[in-house]
Amino acid sequence: MKAVVVGAGIAGLVTARQLGLAGWDVEVLEKSAVPRPDGYMMDFFGPGVEASERIGLYPRLKEVSYHVEAAEYVNLGGHPTCSLDYDRFARLAGGNVLSLLRPDMERAALAALDDVSSGRVRVRYGAPVSKVWSAEDCVRVGVENTPDGSLAADVLVGADGIHSSVRAQVFGPEEEYLRPLGMRAAAFIVTEPDLNARFRDRFVLTDSIDRVAGLYSLRSDQVAAFMVYRDVPGAAVHLSSGSPRDRLHREFAGLGHAVDRLLELCPEHPYDDVVAQIVMPGWQDGRTVLVGDACGAVSLLAGQGGSLAIAGAALLGDILGPVASPGRIGPALAEFERRWRPVVEEAQAAGRRAVSSFLPANRTQRLLRRWIIRGTRLPGIDRLVARQIVGRIAK
Ligand SMILES: Cc1cc2nc3c(=O)[nH]c(=O)nc-3n(C[C@H](O)[C@H](O)[C@H](O)COP(=O)(O)OP(=O)(O)OC[C@H]3O[C@@H](n4cnc5c(N)ncnc54)[C@H](O)[C@@H]3O)c2cc1C
Repeated sequence: MKAVVVGAGIAGLVTARQLGLAGWDVEVLEKSAVPRPDGYMMDFFGPGVEASERIGLYPRLKEVSYHVEAAEYVNLGGHPTCSLDYDRFARLAGGNVLSLLRPDMERAALAALDDVSSGRVRVRYGAPVSKVWSAEDCVRVGVENTPDGSLAADVLVGADGIHSSVRAQVFGPEEEYLRPLGMRAAAFIVTEPDLNARFRDRFVLTDSIDRVAGLYSLRSDQVAAFMVYRDVPGAAVHLSSGSPRDRLHREFAGLGHAVDRLLELCPEHPYDDVVAQIVMPGWQDGRTVLVGDACGAVSLLAGQGGSLAIAGAALLGDILGPVASPGRIGPALAEFERRWRPVVEEAQAAGRRAVSSFLPANRTQRLLRRWIIRGTRLPGIDRLVARQIVGRIAK
């Protein structure tokens, strides 16, 4: 059996590995020329932990993870207003929590393709998929920068993220499925030895209204920065004025010395995207199935994008891997959706509940966030907070 996987992000690479291990021939098509270095620190907890242990990916993830002692909110003078202890957060989140840089997670998933027999999984970078169509006994994808211009497969897996082209081609335009949460997120990595030394082992976040800047010290004098800000109505005009860096300067000026320094070093085109969820009535159509953010983005507010990408891809591999005839493809894809959708919907609901505490719109909401975080120290309240932050921890 042959699969084409579109997107060499975390979901695409794990799907490809699991299908390759089950004996499938897999072609992964990635539009970017090289693995993308962008993205910030992600908490890895929930279903992806168990799934990565089961498929043997966990040790590779643990190896590149960072140690975090606490997430600490600070005022303009840099003094803490409240903090969340990470050991306590790990308990609330149901056990293991790793802190991982998005590109490190992707590189670990890429390296894990070595577990598959040589030549069974091929990853082509610089290969954007532009078109998808059904043929009599296969599905075909039009792919740029290849000698033959298209590829045929028994199954097409759209793992091409929140702005998925496979989804647009097979299920309809993005506007039908993308649910913006009223904010944008930017992320970039800079080399800054002073900030690196000052903020070691903790996430530092500004305790600000309508915007939040965060930073974390990495290995080799680097600092990972992320900035989340309100996406104002009429954003097309707002977004068109200047580069993403100019926009971040406008939005984040005056949040204290550390943020000013990050803004000075910010590249002209950092990762900068809408914070949104993808909500679809169906994830599979004939021989095509979506996985990861492409069908069920939960947003950074749910804090489980990477975890769900791995767990969803591992489950797809479990169910599709043993399929050996075209007649079994449809039922297998339906089974995958039936089992995985409730987990994604639970995480999406947790993400929506977190909107006002993640980005308070006024002083009252900010105060509420401080109480919620302090409440994690109180037995009984901590369970409620856990549900607020991470939803039910699904196995
Ligand atoms: C550059 C980048 C930075 C990110 N930063 C963060 C972050 O800081 N924090 C966070 O929580 N989440 C971030 N995300 C999203 C996070 O990685 C995902 O929520 C999660 O890991 C789910 O992964 P995924 O594999 O489903 O999708 P993604 O990680 O989005 O991967 C999709 C892949 O498909 C490729 N692709 C898209 N269209 C095509 C096409 N037409 N043809 C071929 N390939 C295509 C993309 O280049 C990408 O490599 C980021 C995603 C990207 C791509």
